[in-house]
Amino acid sequence: MSYHAACSGKADDMTDDVFTPSTDDFLARNQEWADAFEHRDLPVSPRRHVAVVACMDSRMPIFGILGLDRGDAHIIRNAGGVVTDDVIRSLTLSQRALGTREIILMHHTDCGLQKVTEAGFNDDLQAELGVRPPWALESFVDPYADTRQSIRRLELSPFIPHKDHIRGFVYNVETGRLDEVFAE
Ligand SMILES: [Zn+2]
Repeated sequence: MSYHAACSGKADDMTDDVFTPSTDDFLARNQEWADAFEHRDLPVSPRRHVAVVACMDSRMPIFGILGLDRGDAHIIRNAGGVVTDDVIRSLTLSQRALGTREIILMHHTDCGLQKVTEAGFNDDLQAELGVRPPWALESFVDPYADTRQSIRRLELSPFIPHKDHIRGFVYNVETGRLDEVFAE
């Protein structure tokens, strides 16, 4: 299945003619935010000494899902919540320089990476741009298997010193519940 065939949803129906960017609206809201700002003295090291690696999915407000407060945790996000080299980079800083000791991985049901295939996505890029990307998209079928893959990558990384408290979850976007993933 190609990227375009898989993604023939609402996003593809939107053309440049009808799209209105929102940044100016967000800036007006930021003014209200700054006017009411009261958290000036938080330390740079997360209070709960935890880093969360999660998918970028718009239905996952990580602070609300975990009951986190400002200053509690590092939140590292990308498509899929996949443990890439750049996630390792952030976690290495998080643990070695900023005192975190615990890692929570959060994948989820109905992920965008389940709706494409690695080959189809890359074929589309090759056809359109003449090149295949130098990175892996990391599409997957089973979010549980993908979470296990991410846990394993953390365990194998020499850069991350604290591995005693790594736990992985699949967030159900229909119910709001976290389902823990255990090694097979
Ligand atoms: Zn996702």
